[in-house]
Amino acid sequence: MSKLIMVSNRLPVRIEADGSASRTEGGLASALEGADLEQEQLWVGWPGGAVEDFEDVERVTDDLRRIGVEPVFLTRDEVDGFYEGYSNSTLWPLMHYMIERAKFSRNWWAAYRAVNRKFAEVIMEAADDGDQVWIHDYHLFLLPAMLRGGKKELKVGFFLHTPFCSSEIFRVLPDRVELLKGLLGADLIGFHTYNYLRHFRSALLQVLGWESEMEGMWHDGREVRMGVYPIGHNHAGFEREIRDPGFADLVASHLRDLAGKRMILNVERLDYTKGVPQKLAAMRRFLESNPDKRDDVLFVLIAVPSRQGVREYDDLTEEVQREVGAINGEFGKVGHAPIQFLHRGFPMCDLAAFYALAEVCMVTPLRDGMNLVAKEFLDCQRPEFSERPGVLILSEFAGAAHELSHALHVNPHDVDQVAAAINRALEMPDDERLQRIGMMQKRLRKQHSGVWARRFLKELDKAQPGEGRIEIMELSPLAARLGEMARERGALGLFLDYDGTLRPFVDVPDQAVPDPELPGLLRDLAGCRGVSLAVVSGRTAEFLEKHLGGLGVSLIGEHGYRWLEHGTGEWELFNPHVNTEWKNAIREHLEQASLLTPGTHVEEKQSALVWHYRKADPEFGLWRARGLLEELTSMAANLPVTVHHGQKIVEISSLQVSKGLAVDHLLRAWDCRAALVAGDDQTDETMITLAPEGVEFFSVKVGAGPTRAAYRTDIPGLRSFLEELRKVLRH
Ligand code: UDP
Repeated sequence: MSKLIMVSNRLPVRIEADGSASRTEGGLASALEGADLEQEQLWVGWPGGAVEDFEDVERVTDDLRRIGVEPVFLTRDEVDGFYEGYSNSTLWPLMHYMIERAKFSRNWWAAYRAVNRKFAEVIMEAADDGDQVWIHDYHLFLLPAMLRGGKKELKVGFFLHTPFCSSEIFRVLPDRVELLKGLLGADLIGFHTYNYLRHFRSALLQVLGWESEMEGMWHDGREVRMGVYPIGHNHAGFEREIRDPGFADLVASHLRDLAGKRMILNVERLDYTKGVPQKLAAMRRFLESNPDKRDDVLFVLIAVPSRQGVREYDDLTEEVQREVGAINGEFGKVGHAPIQFLHRGFPMCDLAAFYALAEVCMVTPLRDGMNLVAKEFLDCQRPEFSERPGVLILSEFAGAAHELSHALHVNPHDVDQVAAAINRALEMPDDERLQRIGMMQKRLRKQHSGVWARRFLKELDKAQPGEGRIEIMELSPLAARLGEMARERGALGLFLDYDGTLRPFVDVPDQAVPDPELPGLLRDLAGCRGVSLAVVSGRTAEFLEKHLGGLGVSLIGEHGYRWLEHGTGEWELFNPHVNTEWKNAIREHLEQASLLTPGTHVEEKQSALVWHYRKADPEFGLWRARGLLEELTSMAANLPVTVHHGQKIVEISSLQVSKGLAVDHLLRAWDCRAALVAGDDQTDETMITLAPEGVEFFSVKVGAGPTRAAYRTDIPGLRSFLEELRKVLRH
């Protein structure tokens, strides 16, 4: 049975001073435990510290392996560049919209790449074909593509625990292209909220110009799926604490400490994304405007130290300590200070007791991927520990706000609003509290972290390494068969699309000229006995003749409107009676769209009109294209035209013209007994779906997307097939 390889920067392990290792409870570890998987599991990650500091690396490695962990050791320089640097001082602030805090360094980027590569090597060593690899978080954006480059067939999932920032922020990153392409190596990419997914897709479009669907996209011949999987909290863990026989005593002891004060609880890591100074400003405002409540309430501020020794974090700690002192100095009295600042972490049992006793919980980050404190607080609220149900004040910038719609939502930057929310929470009648909490608890307990992990892994399991990819057609047998037919029956027709089939798309279509090998290949094929070859393209006659003329190849331009039989020198129309009167009505519409969308233009062909948006803002262009498509489809209902959305174009062409009609005509004119057609887009399907009588017919789709072709390949695959065919035919 395949195994699951969990990959996260930090591992759920503790390494003691003597080097011995043991497992710890962590968010991810408990999620996995709650998912109840039968699979074998292996963790890959950084055990912390610098490798130079370990006395006996081999012994630590052995110990870790014994508990199912494969370590990735980092040197001190890598810890600085990869972890402290690029991960925490470039990506972390940017993903949380704190662009002014983000620092950029080439050395950090080099370390980030090197460490991602290190992870890839360790995984490749440990993985077997068919294994699931689940990668976590922003430290490892490059890893999915690095694994793809390896030889093993893995199911690669990636989950981002932070927000994915707006593409306007993301594109500030000098390494944006590589980061996005790194992620696209995954089979499944998960986010906490719909908005993060939307921002990611928008970054793909803005930075790479690549269009995607909500469900995912085709990339590099594979399907990359995307989805929204909001993480849940460790419900089982908190339940265990609450059911512990000692829990009631613990609650009673904290209750005594509260001495009748109403607790307003705050629990967070002391990170600048959590908005602690803004929260203190709101507390001050509340105390100022509600003198009657000053003596009744106690703000408990649990701030878990984070990244101590990093200047920015030390400054933040100092700022918070100073402000807490100032507020207490101003609003406290003998025997009571309104804010209690607890600068340390607490074990789960104490947290559960605080959550159970709190009358209000303030979760007010400036940005937060999800925020589990909000969910934990709601879950621990039970009537047996507190007479009054608690109220959750929740920042609208926390991912959790999408799910917890019955909390009091606030904008953490709006000090007055947060102060008013504190007052409103304290005054909220019990029945309203109960109703709100009930709605949210019901949802949370069903969506705990185990459910989250199971759901993601189930989705990841649908990935089909190898099979999901475009299957490269069986080149040699088909080439041999066609060669035989050409010899025996004498008339083999080859009909090849140009853009996206014989050569890749480029940004400026006029630069998509044939590469140096292509003309020779086409000339040789067309020169073989019994073979007739036509390039069937949407391009104009001028372009085709300029680049592919004189090779002994027939040219079909404008999607089958006109053609040049090799050796004749005269372009002819397949159908001289094509009606193009509809162009007047449509042209105006397209020109209007061009005026309204900078960077777009209309191209006029004899039997078609094309609206190009490759140079427009990609998002704006795509939006307008979809609008146009809808409008044109209804406008065209009574016109003899078809509307087609292609590579950064919308094309309206005459119904009486198609590549299929043109090829059908030539199959008869050339009296073909066997034929092969190859193309990459929707216009090529008209030839792919032909079923000519008496002709042995083969169809090839090049690239991704739906098709009715019998074979599928990519551009290099088709080119090597044609080379093979040349060899066979000449033999
Ligand atoms: N936590 C803890 N001890 C503490 C304070 C917090 O174990 O003293 C835990 C808390 O239960 C929660 C996590 O730390 O599960 C904080 O997660 P959250 O998503 O709220 O924020 P993050 O720190 O991941 O940004």
